[in-house]
Amino acid sequence: MTEAAQTDLRQLSLAELEAFLRELGQPAYRAQQVFRWLHQRGARRFEEMTDLSKTLRETLEAHATCAPMEITKVERAADGTRKYALRTAHGDVCEAVFIPDASAEGRNTLCISSQVGCAIDCKFCLTASLGLLRNLGAGEIVEQITRVKEDLILHPHKSAGRPATPDFADEHEDDPPLPDSQAERAASPGRAKSGGPALPDRAPMTSQAERAASPGRAETGGPALPDRAPMTRAPMAPQLIGNVVMMGMGEPLQNYNAVITALHIMGHPLSHHISPRRITVSTAGLAPRIPRLGQDVPVNLAVSLNATTDEVRDRIMPINKKWNIKALLQACQEFPLAQRRRITFEYVLLADTNDSDEDARRLVRLLRPFRCKVNLIPFNEHPYSTFKRPSRERVARFQSIVGEAGFTVLVRTARGDEISAACGQLGAEVDAPRRMLNVLP
Ligand code: SF4
Repeated sequence: MTEAAQTDLRQLSLAELEAFLRELGQPAYRAQQVFRWLHQRGARRFEEMTDLSKTLRETLEAHATCAPMEITKVERAADGTRKYALRTAHGDVCEAVFIPDASAEGRNTLCISSQVGCAIDCKFCLTASLGLLRNLGAGEIVEQITRVKEDLILHPHKSAGRPATPDFADEHEDDPPLPDSQAERAASPGRAKSGGPALPDRAPMTSQAERAASPGRAETGGPALPDRAPMTRAPMAPQLIGNVVMMGMGEPLQNYNAVITALHIMGHPLSHHISPRRITVSTAGLAPRIPRLGQDVPVNLAVSLNATTDEVRDRIMPINKKWNIKALLQACQEFPLAQRRRITFEYVLLADTNDSDEDARRLVRLLRPFRCKVNLIPFNEHPYSTFKRPSRERVARFQSIVGEAGFTVLVRTARGDEISAACGQLGAEVDAPRRMLNVLP
């Protein structure tokens, strides 16, 4: 196994992990154990995987890595939103935003990144000013969920009393039953006893209180997590994060293979077990990959449309020069939309650019063929853009024109505005000198 020393096991799907361990002469259930340790229990080192033999742990140490991502900064907004900066093993930083849901359903949302920076260059977006620094690996995409869950266990959130994510959580029915796979039985100790496969012995449960009492816990602005994780770990509470949206830094469809692998990993019962119906992938418009995404994983689709003419969209989203509005909407028509699902069209409202009555009417005409809803996002002003947020009256007028035409149209609340966690504001902490170079003429 000459390349084995290079292999980061966190980046592998379960099937790939099984193949890797098979080459080391290990049976498939070992891969399930390692997979679970990495994603469900958040292990940082092979030595933490206490249900593997010492010999196997040493073999893994010699042939593979599982370098963890660490939270380096947590900013908390008054509304309960938290913005996380996470440093990867490569030393660069991506961001994720936790949005609590105070409604009865209580499905919190985590917005995660797919790239460090972004190459798409939307003119209103703060992340764009970084340029693309690096694609995240599948494991790094999933690990944002893992590390944020750890922080939520150590520092439970108190939500501020208003529903956080009406735009994504409102229409999702309960998760569908999952396949009765061996892996699923393995993930459920009760069921495993009644006929499931012998399962890797579970590590003793580590209570929340015990974990919270461990030293070196995350603090806002400080080194976040224990340098040394507990040697035994319970699976992290699945209910902490109910919805995942890929709307953080980066264009997910430009990092396609890693994103698809990440979606499979985060949905697996031995990982975070998040149903694809609870996951929304957002795109700025890489048209050819839109139908393929829905074929590969039945996630929800969000499309960042933001203009109703090619002239304006060319100007604010250069990707439109490659795939214009017609090509983009044609691709959306080909997206395999499950029953009771709708496409979300995101529309950032920029004062005097795309917010006129005529824009609203054109939007209605463009979206008429779709089973969809519209999210209006009044622009979140930031120092790297000259665009302005429209007045409340303008936003309300735009909303009423689209709403009266029969569409569900929501105005997205700017959650976490004061910590720059709102849409289009990620990357504020990352590489400011590089950003300055990128935005200078
Ligand atoms: S809006 Fe999304 S796709 Fe456009 S530059 Fe920003 S991160 Fe990239």
